[in-house]
Amino acid sequence: MNSKKNGSPPAKLTPNKALKDRNTFGLDSRAEFAYEITTAEQIPPLLQALKEQAISWRVLGGGSNVILPTHLLGATLLMNITGQAIENVDEKSTFVSVGAGENWHTFVTWTLDQGLPGLENLALIPGTVGAAPIQNIGAYGVEIGEYIDSIEAFDSEAHAFVTLTRDECQFAYRDSLFKQYPNRFIVTRVILQIPKAWSARISYADLTKQFSDATAAPTPKAIFAAVCQIRNQKLPDPKVIGNAGSFFQNPLIDIAHYESLIKQFPEIISYPATPGKRKLGAGWLIDHCGFKGLTLGPVGVYKHQALVIVHYGNGTAQDIMNIAKTIQDKVHDTFGVHLTIEPNIL
Ligand SMILES: Cc1cc2nc3c(=O)[nH]c(=O)nc-3n(C[C@H](O)[C@H](O)[C@H](O)COP(=O)(O)OP(=O)(O)OC[C@H]3O[C@@H](n4cnc5c(N)ncnc54)[C@H](O)[C@@H]3O)c2cc1C
Repeated sequence: MNSKKNGSPPAKLTPNKALKDRNTFGLDSRAEFAYEITTAEQIPPLLQALKEQAISWRVLGGGSNVILPTHLLGATLLMNITGQAIENVDEKSTFVSVGAGENWHTFVTWTLDQGLPGLENLALIPGTVGAAPIQNIGAYGVEIGEYIDSIEAFDSEAHAFVTLTRDECQFAYRDSLFKQYPNRFIVTRVILQIPKAWSARISYADLTKQFSDATAAPTPKAIFAAVCQIRNQKLPDPKVIGNAGSFFQNPLIDIAHYESLIKQFPEIISYPATPGKRKLGAGWLIDHCGFKGLTLGPVGVYKHQALVIVHYGNGTAQDIMNIAKTIQDKVHDTFGVHLTIEPNIL
């Protein structure tokens, strides 16, 4: 546990703050009160004051994994703690400390510029560094949890700053301790351990294909560029069309269930998972049910990627939940599989 000094400026308050530009779905939402957090020291007095006035609160990073209501009651804490530095280097690893409000992709670019490869498969994931451990962001066979040394956070239950080790964070597929205790921890800083030994991780089909003609082993920057190119082709740009990336998690099912499905649907897409389980491609399940390109009023299923729900404008959280339910019901009826929604419903 760390103790922090007082004397930091109070968090800046904005009443009735528009959040349309701070959620990638582009939903028209307003926070009753918004507080900009630029230093960790602002958090204890702010939370104390909110507690005394019985005002609810939550943290918002870049808003790329949330579904916001039209009126977000209580206090919304806008995470803007910045700064990154190499803290320590030992024989095997480099330890990098980064503020929770830094942009994730900009940070990945910075690590590569510092000659610290490892995070390139996670390029172009939107959002902040502080939110990355919440759902243990992952892409192209790599998860952030593998690279985390520790997390500095404010524990609102203990009303104290804590440092959580990688093991304590309990990282799993799109899961962590933070998801089990929503709104308990405010991540202020992330310390990454980047191993000096590096090897290319291109076993995911899209990446393997990208480098199939290569005569030499790909460099970290070549993988970074390939990941950016693939993502730009596959995923809609939230600046152009509202979305939160993959809307459903890939479901984990028992092997027995998988074996009965593969008999009925030999072309089903699946991946290895934990012992006794198989991970199904949620996009394939949705596509097979004929939803790709479906439009339901102001929302729809992206025409190039069935896993992405898009918002065309003037829609609400309810429109998104309605289309999600339509998809969940049909997928359940067809495959006996429940699709879990990935974004956080605030
Ligand atoms: C086009 C697109 C592509 C995407 N691709 C991927 C992908 O490949 N892999 C992947 O894993 N995700 C992906 N995502 C989802 C999203 O980018 C990640 O989940 C990201 O980490 C969210 O960051 P954020 O800052 O926007 O978090 P927000 O959406 O602001 O918040 C997400 C949740 O984390 C909480 N939170 C945020 N910051 C903090 C903090 N400092 N302390 C405590 N709690 C906090 C919030 O309360 C909320 O519950 C994608 C999203 C989009 C729009």
